[in-house]
Amino acid sequence: MKDTLDIIREHEGFPTTASKDTLLPCPFCGNKNLGIAETWNGNYHGKVVNCNYLDGGCGANSGSRTSEAEAIEAWNRRAE
Ligand SMILES: [Zn+2]
Repeated sequence: MKDTLDIIREHEGFPTTASKDTLLPCPFCGNKNLGIAETWNGNYHGKVVNCNYLDGGCGANSGSRTSEAEAIEAWNRRAE
């Protein structure tokens, strides 16, 4: 799993519509206020689910995936 994200760009007020219902709570800290951010590793754009420090989370993330759906799936697999 590639967990190295050179840049995580978090949009101010980025939408979390799907995440509230589909994302499992963080397995590390129990945070349910998770975000989905855009990533860029120098070659391609991706999506990452993260347990945002700014929202009281622990900073855990799903690893960069090619789509939001894959990021959610990866996160939920970790949370199980
Ligand atoms: Zn967490």
